[in-house]
Amino acid sequence: MTLLKVAPPREQEVDLSRTYDAVVVGSGAAGGMAAHVLTTRGMRVLLLEAGRRLPIEQELRSMEWPYDHPRRGDLPPGYHGLSLNEYTIRQPPYAKGSAFKHVYSYVGGWSGGDYVKNILVDEKDHPYTGTRYAWVRARALGGKTNIWGRLALRLSDYDFKAKTHDGYGEDWPISYADLAPYYDNVDLYLGISGHRENLPHLPDSLFQRPTKLNAAEVLLRRSLARIGRVLTPYRAGVTSDGLKHNRYRNKCFGRGACNRRAGGCDIHAAFDSPTGLIYPAMDTGHLTLRTNAVAHEVLVDRNSGRARGVAFMDSVSKRTYEAKAKVVILAASTLESARLLLLSRSRQYPNGIANSSGHVGHNFCEHVMGPGVTGLVRDQVGKPHTLDDGRPGGFYVPRFRNLTDRQPGFIRGYGFEGGSGHAMFPPGAWGTPGFGVDFKRRVRDHAGAFISMGGFGEVLPRYESAVDLDPEVKDAWGIPVLRFNYQFGDNERKMAEDMAVTAREMFEAAGIEVIGVDRTVLTEGWSIHELGTARMGTDPKTSVLNQFQQAHDVRNLFVVDGSSHVSASCQNPTWTIMALAWRSCEYLADEFRKGNL
Ligand SMILES: Cc1cc2nc3c(=O)[nH]c(=O)nc-3n(C[C@H](O)[C@H](O)[C@H](O)COP(=O)(O)OP(=O)(O)OC[C@H]3O[C@@H](n4cnc5c(N)ncnc54)[C@H](O)[C@@H]3O)c2cc1C
Ligand code: SF4
Repeated sequence: MTLLKVAPPREQEVDLSRTYDAVVVGSGAAGGMAAHVLTTRGMRVLLLEAGRRLPIEQELRSMEWPYDHPRRGDLPPGYHGLSLNEYTIRQPPYAKGSAFKHVYSYVGGWSGGDYVKNILVDEKDHPYTGTRYAWVRARALGGKTNIWGRLALRLSDYDFKAKTHDGYGEDWPISYADLAPYYDNVDLYLGISGHRENLPHLPDSLFQRPTKLNAAEVLLRRSLARIGRVLTPYRAGVTSDGLKHNRYRNKCFGRGACNRRAGGCDIHAAFDSPTGLIYPAMDTGHLTLRTNAVAHEVLVDRNSGRARGVAFMDSVSKRTYEAKAKVVILAASTLESARLLLLSRSRQYPNGIANSSGHVGHNFCEHVMGPGVTGLVRDQVGKPHTLDDGRPGGFYVPRFRNLTDRQPGFIRGYGFEGGSGHAMFPPGAWGTPGFGVDFKRRVRDHAGAFISMGGFGEVLPRYESAVDLDPEVKDAWGIPVLRFNYQFGDNERKMAEDMAVTAREMFEAAGIEVIGVDRTVLTEGWSIHELGTARMGTDPKTSVLNQFQQAHDVRNLFVVDGSSHVSASCQNPTWTIMALAWRSCEYLADEFRKGNL
């Protein structure tokens, strides 16, 4: 094992007088993948990123012990992370009128908020309006991948052909067979740890070494197997065996820092877009990076209606520039890409570019979460301590509803993320009664015996679930902000009720003592899995993009992030975002070479 860090490559000078082959907006999972695939195919690419390029190891400081930090990782005075109560009783913009100088989404309120305060956006500068929504945004090179939770799952034809299965919504214009080779590419290029289960509804990846389940998790796995359900080790977008082709990343050495704070891995065993995709793309000599570049319009050629580049503003000087390119690729994340499309109004595209269908901003979907269960495994009380948080994740229970059965109250399904065992801060300590020596002994004895899990359910896409531009409110750069018109519906509420019931049942069946069942549905947005807003489809009247994430209306415009997803499924989206982007960018590069773009 080597912990040697290789210095990032030197940046090429941006030359705004030239026309690049492609300009990519956004450097997260989607934009990083676009940069990787296109530069490997020899295209000259300019990558525009609104945030800064941070010295990320100095931000994350994964090796720092809590007692070495002046506030044990908490935010400094004057900084504030929003709470569930604030999201529940107030309306956006949540930072408006706040006495705090800086306000962050709820992720900034987690333990270790100080480590992410330069990665998350300050809500004071980045307001949004409309219905309640806990919008978590990261503005830095790499976007949210700097701190993501690493659960890396595939979708299946239960998701891509969901309409065929239950009649609701639309099928995707692709099937699993179309995407499987690209999932394989992502697995092999970025590394994923997991265990094969041969499930038709959660296809296996090409896994590296899995993380180990602990005793309580094995107990639950065995019990679930008896009723035909599965508990599998966390499928982590983490290289557990190392990647010989990538000199910027190391294999996981199991310190668990990614689990103790908001996420982030100093040695880049957990995938992040800069070390996984962007630095290797820079090494090709074909990638130019422009950070602090806030894109605010896709520029259009007046005669042909084709995209001719992107207008952006320097985030510090607020000066505006134009980047010229033969192909424009948006990858600013689901909601920001929709915002950019809507902002790009012109004579040819009065409702925003690529929006002849009127579907941009609509069919917004994500995951509903909140309900779950906590239990105690009596056999584990007083057992020797183990390093359970020294791993990138606990376990995942894949969907089991509406596969072969038909639930009376709702369609689609949900999965559970969970974990058990010892952690740096002993689980259950807050709830343990008493004080003094006896209290400490009880906390120590019980610390490894708790097990918990929480559900992530599919939110149905609905045309009326939408974002548009607020006619009045602007961000700190004078750019109109998004206005939400979005709420969970009856299907989500019924599904959430079922999550709490089945979670309890599964623990009880395993002989786990249930000590708490959570039924609260968290505010819309909490899952940080926003999807839809520019969906793919075969019909230009009801979709924005074709199966290659290419705008129906504008041949040389692509949108390669989660906005293209037709439905949310209940599996975490990042691996699918990257597999789709890989597929589309291969198509794009072929079309470019043939002169079709
Ligand atoms: C705490 C946390 C836990 C998560 N856990 C998981 C998980 O376990 N599994 C999973 O699959 N997903 C998880 N996610 C979600 C995952 O991070 C996202 O799905 C993924 O990062 C989306 O990639 P993206 O490229 O679309 O967006 P992002 O990663 O957000 O990148 C978008 C980039 O575009 C930039 N940008 C935005 N607007 C502009 C503009 N106008 N001009 C220029 N640049 C712009 C942003 O600054 C950003 O860098 C988690 C996220 C968080 C925050
Ligand atoms: S457990 Fe592995 S992936 Fe997580 S921070 Fe440690 S080395 Fe990185």
